Amino acid sequence: MAGDQGPGAAGRFPIAALILTHEHADHVRGLRTLYRRGTPILASPGTLRALGHRFRRAIPLNGEVEAAGLRISSFPVPHDARDPRGIVLELDGTRAGIVTDLGEVPGAVLEALAGCEGLVFEANHDLELLLSGPYPWPLKLRILGPRGHLSNDVAGSALAELAPRARAVFLAHISQENNRPSLALETVARHLEHWDGALYLTYPDRPGAVVELPA
Ligand SMILES: [Zn+2]
Ligand SMILES: [Zn+2]
Repeated sequence: MAGDQGPGAAGRFPIAALILTHEHADHVRGLRTLYRRGTPILASPGTLRALGHRFRRAIPLNGEVEAAGLRISSFPVPHDARDPRGIVLELDGTRAGIVTDLGEVPGAVLEALAGCEGLVFEANHDLELLLSGPYPWPLKLRILGPRGHLSNDVAGSALAELAPRARAVFLAHISQENNRPSLALETVARHLEHWDGALYLTYPDRPGAVVELPA
């Protein structure tokens, strides 16, 4: 069931648009370069405000927006940023949901992702690795808090609810300090025992697998 196909062909595709989920530094590095090249940038009104007035051509994510041939909608997620969002992309009735950087998974987030055939979902840390790891306590508490990040186990429970519909799930935002990709994959897979979809990893430094979602 679990398959990690390593680097895929995504690097060959040009960047048609960039969707920012929030303004934290690990998400906006390189933004200025892409903006200067003319890449369309989409973000929630609050995220754009938090970024200041540097990106005047950016498109606010309000309701449903069309960009790069996709219908793009967003929903709020609990995270310690100004106006953080999860994203749903839709093409010809097929949907992919993207949600990273959230401290818990409220019912509204599950509802927003319920119709998605593809998911990119945060599996940020392993609880024991985080607790025994090198981060200072205030940072550990922030990550563990309701506006922090999801553990592998919490991600697995949420994905167990979404799995019947989802055909492909990509685990994302995997901490390099407080997690291991194989551990994230194993822990989440344990929650998805009878699921017949495919589970993939994503990488901070290279593209992941490219999959085709059923219409
Ligand atoms: Zn982040
Ligand atoms: Zn963040």
